[in-house]
Amino acid sequence: MSVTGAGHNADLIVINGRVLTMDEDNPAAEAVAVKDGAIVAIGSRAAVERLKGPATKVIDAKGGSVLPGFIEAHMHLFSGAAELAHLQLAGVHGFEALQSAIRDHAQTRPDAKMLVGQGVDYTVLGSERVTRHHLDAILPDRPFAMAAPDHHTMWANTMALEMAGVLQGQQLGPGNEIVMGDDGLATGELREGEAFGPVLDLAGESRVRLGLATGGEPDPTPSAEERAADRDIMRRGLAWCARHGITSVQNMDGNLYQLELLAEIEAEEGLACRVQVPFHYKNFMTLDMLDKASAMAERYDSEWLSSGIVKVFYDGVLDSWTAVMIEPYADRPDWIGEPLFTPQQFIDLAVAVDKRGLQIAVHSIGDGAVRAVLDGYEAAEQANGRRDSRHRVEHIEVITAADVPRFQNLGVIASMQPPHPPGAMGFPLEPTVSRIGAPRWPLSYAWRTLKNAGARIVFASDWPVSPIDPILGIQAAVLRKPWAKTDPDQSFSLYESIAGYTVEGAYAEFMEHRKGRLKTGYLADIVVLSADIETTAPEALHTVRPVTTICGGKVTYQA
Ligand SMILES: [Zn+2]
Repeated sequence: MSVTGAGHNADLIVINGRVLTMDEDNPAAEAVAVKDGAIVAIGSRAAVERLKGPATKVIDAKGGSVLPGFIEAHMHLFSGAAELAHLQLAGVHGFEALQSAIRDHAQTRPDAKMLVGQGVDYTVLGSERVTRHHLDAILPDRPFAMAAPDHHTMWANTMALEMAGVLQGQQLGPGNEIVMGDDGLATGELREGEAFGPVLDLAGESRVRLGLATGGEPDPTPSAEERAADRDIMRRGLAWCARHGITSVQNMDGNLYQLELLAEIEAEEGLACRVQVPFHYKNFMTLDMLDKASAMAERYDSEWLSSGIVKVFYDGVLDSWTAVMIEPYADRPDWIGEPLFTPQQFIDLAVAVDKRGLQIAVHSIGDGAVRAVLDGYEAAEQANGRRDSRHRVEHIEVITAADVPRFQNLGVIASMQPPHPPGAMGFPLEPTVSRIGAPRWPLSYAWRTLKNAGARIVFASDWPVSPIDPILGIQAAVLRKPWAKTDPDQSFSLYESIAGYTVEGAYAEFMEHRKGRLKTGYLADIVVLSADIETTAPEALHTVRPVTTICGGKVTYQA
């Protein structure tokens, strides 16, 4: 390495680190140098310090791990950011605890139009299902609703149901349901977005939810103040990513409005995190509306802000029996779930999106949904020819043995969420494991089985469904235990888990030549951790914290 003048000085160097590059050709190093947003040197401390000039910022990693910035491959930035202000009900159990949490929250927000809780377990009241009557007993005189961790079910009190106009029920699209009681009124349980959308809108967060709810644009056009408020929500979300060591986000809902807000932030002060926002295709749309997906892809195509992907929901979730299964649910023998698209509709969609050269990512939880989506990708390949399409299947909570090898055969990415298997992190075993049934356990959340069969596995949190923290995800993946002794071990090694949040995330974005590894010429997206993650006991991984996050050479978080 030769250094001839100040022009060669690095903008920033990280020294004294245990650098895990994720680059097979140069797996470990002590230091990294950054200039103009890219990595210009990686190697020994002495070699990197030669690039230090008077203006070079020096970050001492103090022996902690230095990793490629985490790539969060499935999350919901806008709604997650808004929910940071909601009542957090994860870990609350029993009526008494629920009551005091809700009442305390209500007291701190005397002026809120609507109170919203999130992360409440389906089994918060044990085996008794939550109804509006429970919530009325807690809070009768202010509208309140709370969401399950998976965000596919909400429970509302009578006042919220009444104000939203759904107390008498309502006809909804397939897969959505306002659960009705014997008294002819809604019980308070609302399954899927069409059912709870009107209730949530009472909270004044309709623009936040649009990308998820309809994929459409705000109407009426937001005022300058509303836009500014929405940019602030986005900023909070980006900062939340940065403090967790995340440098790239693959958002899994979206519209043009979200891209515009992010572009405005980029123009004002730069983004704290790179973001990809999809076009969200819903079952009430027609194929010509994909013109908008192509337009979004064309307009946003930078290393900071991009689109180029179409997000679709094919089914719901296991816990509300809305996931689509091939064989009936173990605890509901006459029911296999109801898809949001017919198989033929999805085939037509996949062929049309693929033909435009766009990527597809489909929420598919039950084995029936996974099969239908793979059938769509296969049809697209047949119709349009084989290409490097990297279409994705999101979640894959249950799969059949016959469909496992199709991921490699079709070049399809399996997007898995280490926090999601019941018992792995925050989610309780019940009701999910009984709903799946023991015969299907061996192929439930089958990361290892899929990887062994040649599938590319990308990891993500699905925030705000689960905590965003990639290190918690890594720990959950490493410590994963089977539900029964006879089930296969689906855990990942530490290295494989980190790869799921770095190398594989870059691959999913067609960016493996630019990020996901620490390598000369790659983007300077780096996270410095508080300890050496490789020598930390698996049970203690959660104690390892991001200390410094660097995105594009800029420090976006400093502990
Ligand atoms: Zn999601």
